[in-house]
Amino acid sequence: MNVYDSWRIAAMLNAQGMVATKNVADADIIILNTCSVREKATNKVFSELGRIRDIKKQDAIFGIVGCVAREVGRNAFRRMPDLNFVLGPQSYHRLPQILQDPDSKLLNIDLTGLEKFDEMPQLEHAPTVSYIPIQEGCNHCCTYCIVPYTRGPELSRSYDDVMRDTMHAAETGAVEICFLGQNVNGYKYTDANGKIFRLSDLIRATAKIPEIRRIRFTSSYPTEMTDDLIEMFRDEPKLLPFLNMPIQSGSPDVLKRMNRPYSLDSYLEIIEKLRAARPDIQISSDFIVGFPGETDDDFAQTMDIARRVKYINSYSFKYSPRPHTAAALMPNQIAENIKRERLAILDSELNEIQREFNETCIGKTLTCLCEGPDKTGRHLIYRTPYMQQCIVAKPKNDMPAIMADIKITAANRASLRGEFVKD
Ligand code: SAH
Repeated sequence: MNVYDSWRIAAMLNAQGMVATKNVADADIIILNTCSVREKATNKVFSELGRIRDIKKQDAIFGIVGCVAREVGRNAFRRMPDLNFVLGPQSYHRLPQILQDPDSKLLNIDLTGLEKFDEMPQLEHAPTVSYIPIQEGCNHCCTYCIVPYTRGPELSRSYDDVMRDTMHAAETGAVEICFLGQNVNGYKYTDANGKIFRLSDLIRATAKIPEIRRIRFTSSYPTEMTDDLIEMFRDEPKLLPFLNMPIQSGSPDVLKRMNRPYSLDSYLEIIEKLRAARPDIQISSDFIVGFPGETDDDFAQTMDIARRVKYINSYSFKYSPRPHTAAALMPNQIAENIKRERLAILDSELNEIQREFNETCIGKTLTCLCEGPDKTGRHLIYRTPYMQQCIVAKPKNDMPAIMADIKITAANRASLRGEFVKD
């Protein structure tokens, strides 16, 4: 989501006649887009700002946007008096104001809902993989999560707006569409005639666009995985056989305290339905270890579910207490060394499952999307339908195909190797 926000900010500054530079010391304006979902990311912001202040041109204006800006607000100016602007994740479209009056201190951390989408120019050339946000905010109140505070209540964008952005992306270079939302499968838009649009409607319409070859979406909340959406995995071959559906923990007690009200049985039942609809589907999860009160037995249940579902491409985090969240105030916070130990055990299991899955791909032919050359320039990096990285020797004469059938020849935990299937 932050990557997308940064693209829009860059497009907005392009429209003001600015061009991007890779060198901070050359920049006239420097924007740090920030994430506050875990404490570590927040802590890095101010050290990074200090580094920027020391190397930037003296009259360059700089500031922060995104969730840390909203979390820290006016205090950011106190901590870093040289800062010029502090703009929350729903008010960064106000950025051009600071260009008119660089000596002011621009602060706006309001929750303005969907306003930014209408006020900002479109990207001139869409990236091959284009993110299309379909919603802002979140109404699930997971007790560990700062998102409802930083990005506000859940709002779904109109079906027409989303499809207009999707068409624009398709016409300017997109080959893959990734729909984005904190609770993306809860997307629900009711038009003036009372007609309800769901994520499945967006997928069905997008699949009809010839330029778009692959569709995916993230992140999903388990209980919002409705049958109409599951059917899309059966009916729309362009929808990738890969789904991020975070379980967070395998312990019913921990899930209850996280305010994630689903049972393991109902979660596994959804996975069964998905596998019935699309036998080759693979599931990815996010995990939090060391949530307040998590016992050895709770953690063992997380290990158990990870093995049972055989999650691929998953993310795992140590629980990190966040301001404005209920879990930060819960008793029985877990010691850092135990969190670290549990994370290492889970990571090693997830890595092993990933390696096993990657090895099962050897000998198969997968239709992959080209991401460009690797650092050496001698290979091309492709992305499989399961989001694995696949490295292929660069053909000598031909232009690389954006989509290609690749036979997998080798695999390790991190990536695959393959060769083009010649017809
Ligand atoms: N709605 C998004 C949330 C984005 S945050 C989603 O479901 O993916 C991405 C992940 O960060 C979450 O799934 C969760 O696993 C993790 N996370 C959120 N808050 C956290 C916290 N306080 N400590 C550790 N990990 C956290």
